[in-house]
Amino acid sequence: MVGAGVAGCALAAGLRRGGWAGSIVLWEAGRGPGGRAATRRSRHDPGWQIDHGAPLFNLLEGPEPELVAPLLAGGWIEPWREPAALLDGDGGLGPADGDPLLRGRLYRGRKGMDDLGRGLLALAAQAPAGYLDGRYGTLVRHLEARPGGGWRLADAAGTVQGEADWLVLTGTLLAHPRARQRFGWPQVPLQQASQGLGDAGLEAALASIASMEMEERTNLMLTIETAAAARWLALPFRLLGFDGPAQRRWGLRRLSIQPLADGRCAVVAHGVLAEPEDAAAITALERAVAAALAPWLGDGGTLAGVERRQLMRWGAAFPTTGGLPADAMVCSQSRVAFCGDFLTGPGFGRIEGALRSAQTLAGRLLALVLLLCLALGSPAAATAAGTSVPYRCDGDLLLATADNGAVDAPGIPNTVAGTVPGATVLLEWRGLRLQLPRTNNAGPPSYTDGIWWWSLEDPAQPRFLHRRDAIESFSCQAVPAAGPPAGGR
Ligand SMILES: Cc1cc2nc3c(=O)[nH]c(=O)nc-3n(C[C@H](O)[C@H](O)[C@H](O)COP(=O)(O)OP(=O)(O)OC[C@H]3O[C@@H](n4cnc5c(N)ncnc54)[C@H](O)[C@@H]3O)c2cc1C
Repeated sequence: MVGAGVAGCALAAGLRRGGWAGSIVLWEAGRGPGGRAATRRSRHDPGWQIDHGAPLFNLLEGPEPELVAPLLAGGWIEPWREPAALLDGDGGLGPADGDPLLRGRLYRGRKGMDDLGRGLLALAAQAPAGYLDGRYGTLVRHLEARPGGGWRLADAAGTVQGEADWLVLTGTLLAHPRARQRFGWPQVPLQQASQGLGDAGLEAALASIASMEMEERTNLMLTIETAAAARWLALPFRLLGFDGPAQRRWGLRRLSIQPLADGRCAVVAHGVLAEPEDAAAITALERAVAAALAPWLGDGGTLAGVERRQLMRWGAAFPTTGGLPADAMVCSQSRVAFCGDFLTGPGFGRIEGALRSAQTLAGRLLALVLLLCLALGSPAAATAAGTSVPYRCDGDLLLATADNGAVDAPGIPNTVAGTVPGATVLLEWRGLRLQLPRTNNAGPPSYTDGIWWWSLEDPAQPRFLHRRDAIESFSCQAVPAAGPPAGGR
């Protein structure tokens, strides 16, 4: 998965809770999970933190996404119960639910918004056990379709960061033309990588993503010293939305006031400035905040007690028009899938959409696995019939296809203690295709080419060895035949 925002973390949790025990790797450009719902912290100032993107989330559509209840039960999120209001163009305050982001059931991360992503990853780390890794601080720049299926991911230097059987994009950066303007990339990475695959579904999805428009945000972050913070914390709102006329008057969309544990507070002003210079943008936004709040703070155009000023520019804060239709989220021919707030449907452009799209995608991917298992049947039957048997080896899917060879026709007695001339097993694992001849050993079947070893003394846990300088052993388990998923889903 590229991206450990809400959607990526929720997909990992959804797959695990649905029974998927295969390996999951999340490559994330940021330093931790959260994406646009992350919390900024400081190593030098341990009491300081700011939710610099989304300060909360709302659920407007029912039924509630399945992951919300376990997140609440685990203490990762809590209902948002602070006062909120909507400012109009004349400076009057109205009810907050005039703002679509403040309507419905409101929640926030308990110790910061990044608790949402952390909580989802904690749910993903619960049973069933499986390899789960977050590779933070890695911007995936290049994608390459592997010849045998699956994907190779590389960073800006071209260094391969990993390989995967399936690729899930939870953000649009690798699939939208904005990457060309933002980073000067000559091509859109996924578009480039998809050339020659002949996957009409993927091409349609890419065309749909390319037509999407995104809205920017320039956020001013102020840290207010303790003496001045009391006045901010006594305001009749912790969150202030701006209606259309107020947005035009002050150039602001929203103010979020966040108390810090040591008595200071952080203030985030969400603006829509096109000002390219950071210093000028900070001055302009600070003036706008002082002007909009003058009736309450009465600072006469300046803000008292500001300890620190920072700017955060969100190039793609919200998808606005378009969106990828949910029925295009899985491109099974090329093994690519998408989830995130850019999927059309309930919650589009919000955290609710990121959660819901991840839930839907988890269901669709699990259904594909279920179909595979049903098609393969039980390991014993499949071995006899020469069909592929799935195993999980060192966290990755391995398919073993035993072939008893042309001489093993019915009626030819197998007199050499189970050994059949011409018998082989084909192992497909991590992009490798190994055809191993059967050994002359008596007893349960074993296969080797002198370098790899595969044997079925315990069919549920085959021995899988690789000899290089030393012998490497991979832990393998048969993938159990799928029963009906929990909850009837
Ligand atoms: C200022 C602001 C205020 C907001 N307020 C609200 C609100 O009040 N309520 C609400 O519901 N929503 C709000 N939102 C929107 C909300 O934050 C998003 O809808 C939600 O977080 C989207 O989650 P996601 O996982 O789909 O995408 P993202 O959070 O964007 O996650 C995608 C992740 O992928 C990573 N990534 C992308 N490309 C690569 C790559 N090539 N290599 C490595 N990593 C990559 C990114 O770093 C990112 O972490 C706000 C957003 C902003 C910016």
